[in-house]
Amino acid sequence: MSAPTLHSHIGHGAEHAKAHHGKPKLAVWKFASCDGCQLSLLNCEDELLAVAGAVDIAYFPEATRAVVEGPYDVSLVEGSVTTPEEIERIQHVREVSRKVITIGACATAGGIQALRNFGDVAEFRSIVYAHPEYLSTLSRSTPISAHVSVDFQLRGCPIDKGQLLEVLAAAIQGRKPRIPSYSVCVECKRRGTVCVAVATGTPCLGPVTQAGCGALCPAFSRGCYGCFGPQDTPNTASLAERLRVLGMSEVEVMRIYRTFNAASEPFRRESERHERLVEEGVAP
Ligand code: SF4
Ligand code: SF4
Ligand code: SF4
Repeated sequence: MSAPTLHSHIGHGAEHAKAHHGKPKLAVWKFASCDGCQLSLLNCEDELLAVAGAVDIAYFPEATRAVVEGPYDVSLVEGSVTTPEEIERIQHVREVSRKVITIGACATAGGIQALRNFGDVAEFRSIVYAHPEYLSTLSRSTPISAHVSVDFQLRGCPIDKGQLLEVLAAAIQGRKPRIPSYSVCVECKRRGTVCVAVATGTPCLGPVTQAGCGALCPAFSRGCYGCFGPQDTPNTASLAERLRVLGMSEVEVMRIYRTFNAASEPFRRESERHERLVEEGVAP
């Protein structure tokens, strides 16, 4: 998706907000994550000056050591909850924030680290670390919305910066963000990209994945692997059947649903269904 200017998103709304309440205070928080979504904000380059002009960047350790005390008008939260300390910290974030917006697959679905939810975390810990007894970790990685109420969830791994600017502008203006919930297939059709599933039989999760990336992978002749998570009402079972016709085994279908958004409800349910089929020996 191309990134429109922040001014085009905010327009007079920000001026109105500033005139009446001063600049809205923005905080950016990190939980269990790779920092990639926060970097999307830093990568806004030219837009960053507009962001800095439109909001008071009050708390953003990735970008500045200066800290302005809360409460905050808007909190962007990256990352999932994976430790007991994080459960307490997210309660604090909620208490000091007027709006909480989660950004990225980690924060909205538990992220790649939610693969632990399908296994035994104690076993993983003992294999990976020499002294697992020093670690304090939860058995599951959960999205922020499993712990506190969230005002908006922005998908992607990483998020799209154009969408981030739209969500920020909407939060400042007090309106609903214009973020589509339809599938990547719609974006493919709009840009005139040849369907890789039809043309070359390449497995693609586009039909069940939420739009937002501009159909990036199909544009490079690759199948979508679902990094924006499930679209509204995805028919995961129907697509799974198609993936089987394209030559994927049950194990491969289970795995394709089990990546960055493995713990999102529709993808989790579908991957577990295929896991059961494999365990029951119904299919290879
Ligand atoms: S969603 Fe992806 S890019 Fe964003 S923090 Fe998580 S792993 Fe990194
Ligand atoms: S390439 Fe994938 S996302 Fe694009 S139209 Fe085909 S199935 Fe849908
Ligand atoms: S994996 Fe799918 S959602 Fe993610 S960038 Fe590629 S096409 Fe877009």
